[in-house]
Amino acid sequence: MIVSCDASGLEWRTALFLSQDKVGIQELHDGVDTHDDNRRRYKLGEGKAARTTAKIFLFKLIYGASAYSYANDPDFTHISTKEKFWQGIIDKTYEKYPQLGAWHVKLVQEAIETGKVVIPSGREFVFHDAANPRERPKILNYPCQGFGADIVMVARISAYRRIKKISDEIKFVNTVHDSKVNDCPAKYLDIVAQTYYSCYTDLPTNLSRMFNIDFNVPLDCEVTYGPNLGDEVTWDKELRPVLKGDKNQCPSCGELFNSTYAFDTHRHGSFGKDRRCMTLEEMTEKGMAKNDAGFWISSKNPLY
Ligand SMILES: [Zn+2]
Repeated sequence: MIVSCDASGLEWRTALFLSQDKVGIQELHDGVDTHDDNRRRYKLGEGKAARTTAKIFLFKLIYGASAYSYANDPDFTHISTKEKFWQGIIDKTYEKYPQLGAWHVKLVQEAIETGKVVIPSGREFVFHDAANPRERPKILNYPCQGFGADIVMVARISAYRRIKKISDEIKFVNTVHDSKVNDCPAKYLDIVAQTYYSCYTDLPTNLSRMFNIDFNVPLDCEVTYGPNLGDEVTWDKELRPVLKGDKNQCPSCGELFNSTYAFDTHRHGSFGKDRRCMTLEEMTEKGMAKNDAGFWISSKNPLY
């Protein structure tokens, strides 16, 4: 089974930390849907598609998009093709997030004056032609993307160390940008997912320690899983039970099992051929039973 973990809103959260924008950080702490709030505020329309437009608008702004680029971008032209309109939205965004705006100004100044921008992890980005307005998107983009990559690096190491301890059967098979992909037996799904969530909860503390900063922006992730990368579904952290020890949940039928042994008992057929979950009737017939907590045990009669 493939289990993938992606950081949530990494670029925005990185920009909020680097700019220390009070409104943006407060929105995260309060659980406000930033993109939906912006959709309403900027009158970008109704519904999910309009929220996505607000989201892409903000990501492009972090990276220095101009009014001209919005007015000519097919993602935005259905709303307006007028530069003046988009400049209005850009101004409103900087009004809402004043420290973000101030940070953007400061980055360009720093690049012009010193020829480089230094991020909290110590990496330096050199700009030879910083005064050229064409360089602005790069000057805004590199520090944000760069520190975002450093954040994920810490998450990746932390997850690797914790997951390696669970079992050698869990393989680390890929990592691109903010995604981390494992291939593992289905019985480890919940423990791997929960480990990723705890890594992201602990990440601000670890970043603070590692880079000697006060990382005051909450971080979060999303875990998806499935038989392959194309058929992944979201692992719902609200719905999933907390599985301790050897307890597990079958990703195919969703039943809960008290042990790996009980889980193996409900799988029927040969590997690679006709391996499947038993029906509830078959499980009961085989002597399996549910305990009071709702977990299947391999035998209701321990003498069986
Ligand atoms: Zn099953």
